[in-house]
Amino acid sequence: MKIFLQIFTLGLTLLFFGRGSSAGILEDAMEGKAPIIDLTYPLNEKNAYWPVGNYTPFKYEVIANIKRDRVFSGRYSTPEHLGTHIDAPNHFELNKPSVDQIPFEQLVGHAVVIDVTDKTNKDADYVLLLSDILLWEKVNEQIPDGAIVLLNTGWGKRWHDFEIYKNKDNNDRMRFPGYSKEAAVFLVEKRHIKGIGIDTLSGDCGNCSDFQVHHVINGAGKFILENVANLDKLPPRGATLIIAPIKIEGGSGGQCRIWALLPR
Ligand SMILES: [Zn+2]
Repeated sequence: MKIFLQIFTLGLTLLFFGRGSSAGILEDAMEGKAPIIDLTYPLNEKNAYWPVGNYTPFKYEVIANIKRDRVFSGRYSTPEHLGTHIDAPNHFELNKPSVDQIPFEQLVGHAVVIDVTDKTNKDADYVLLLSDILLWEKVNEQIPDGAIVLLNTGWGKRWHDFEIYKNKDNNDRMRFPGYSKEAAVFLVEKRHIKGIGIDTLSGDCGNCSDFQVHHVINGAGKFILENVANLDKLPPRGATLIIAPIKIEGGSGGQCRIWALLPR
């Protein structure tokens, strides 16, 4: 009986804390044993932001320093949609949750990383197609329910220079890749994703009109992560994401810290 109990307990432990499971990865991370990729760019004045209207660069100023005031402290101002940030469901749709209302369980999930850099190298306007998703599934597995899908377009290589990141043409149109509406609809309706992310300024491509992807994703109550860093360092699957957005009451989104926990 004692041996049976020991085996039973061991089985339960493996089930909930075994390596490979999300709980196991979290346990490993807490002990500093899991590889962690920070998907967040540091905030500074050079950060990319949506370059229209009243949007302004990130600003930081020191308001107290240790030499003079015996304490170091600063203040900052920023648009919500600057740097690595989240678009809350209310960003493009009425009566949807604001950034402070997105529940924890939606902000933690399995990452699916789709790499389209070979396409975007040839075509800056490339949008993720349904066929790209089906090809990913053929090579890997069916995208599990509740996944967070991240699109690696290779645009991270341009992050250091806002001009080549925006990539404006002679007609003042931005040219960078994104998702297609068709892909967004499929991910929401057939794969029940928690949200999507991308390493560019927007889920919709720069030269796309009407923000169709934003409407599909936000309309379904889901979020979009934009200007996500280090997507080229993630495996196609196996990473667990933790997204921690700033809690602006009623906000349309905002800066967030995003960690990817990798299995050992
Ligand atoms: Zn945004």
